[in-house]
Amino acid sequence: ATPTALLVGTGRGAQLGVLIKGPEALESTRRVDTVVLDKTGTVTTGRMSLLAVTPGGGERRDEVLRLAAALENGSEHPVARAVVAGAADVGVLPPVTDFANVAGLGVSGAVDGRQVLLGRARLLEERGLVVPDDLARAATDAEAAGRTAVLVGWDGQARGLLAVADQVKPTSREAVRRLRALGLRPVLLTGDNATVARAVAAEVGIDEVIAEVLPTEKVEVVARLQGEGRVVAMVGDGVNDAAALAQADLGLAMGTGTDVAIEASDLTLVRDDLLAAVDAIRLARATLGTIK
Ligand code: ADP
Ligand code: MG
Repeated sequence: ATPTALLVGTGRGAQLGVLIKGPEALESTRRVDTVVLDKTGTVTTGRMSLLAVTPGGGERRDEVLRLAAALENGSEHPVARAVVAGAADVGVLPPVTDFANVAGLGVSGAVDGRQVLLGRARLLEERGLVVPDDLARAATDAEAAGRTAVLVGWDGQARGLLAVADQVKPTSREAVRRLRALGLRPVLLTGDNATVARAVAAEVGIDEVIAEVLPTEKVEVVARLQGEGRVVAMVGDGVNDAAALAQADLGLAMGTGTDVAIEASDLTLVRDDLLAAVDAIRLARATLGTIK
């Protein structure tokens, strides 16, 4: 009966916009009790916009934005796209040399003869830059408002703050409600700061939040949950989710996500919508129910 049941499952899957990699993919679905959701691009749209630029003392707004955007030009990160798009009015961006991407933390490079660092406060602090009190306060305020705060600095200190944000997808809250109705525990997992993560979690009805997780640590979080006896489905879209998607008992990739995330997953959700994840889990369960 197995081949027919799977055929039905995959046919129905195609209708629902769920692509199933192979029969083995679904084996653990019945026991899944936890659904780990990546934040940016999965629960939220991942299309961020630049909402505010705060120059540090003595700096000019346009100069802060110009250097920041020049650096972010080399990155595909949603934060980077927002910064570049938000800098359309500051003129031609200067070239960058020695560009480096620091996964889950930010970017660095040489612009206009300065060594510029941009990203989470943790990155600047790790590299020995001082974060002045006024910028630290502005960052806290931005985060309290649910925005992701990114610092840019050179010559030993942070010199500006960029606040970016995206929006929760319209169906995310309903999807979380349906996951609970299926008896599943939703968990929000993100590299973003804890305040923003909690704000998004509250908006969609999730109370378990794991934030400020480096890309390399996401897989460890999934493994830890499994070590506690939980059977984990993970939904993600980013390069930084790939290892965790592969580690999960059931990996679900957003079809709008990166190729590596899709490659690492058991299921791909063609619709850019978290309700598709609920349909996929239901479908996987139903398909298994007919396989004896
Ligand atoms: P998520 O888990 O939500 O997909 P990431 O791990 O990709 O988040 O990034 C975590 C955090 O690292 C971001 O919220 C941002 O603060 C910082 N960051 C990463 N890359 C960049 C970048 N190119 N520019 C600015 N900030 C970045
Ligand atoms: Mg993501």
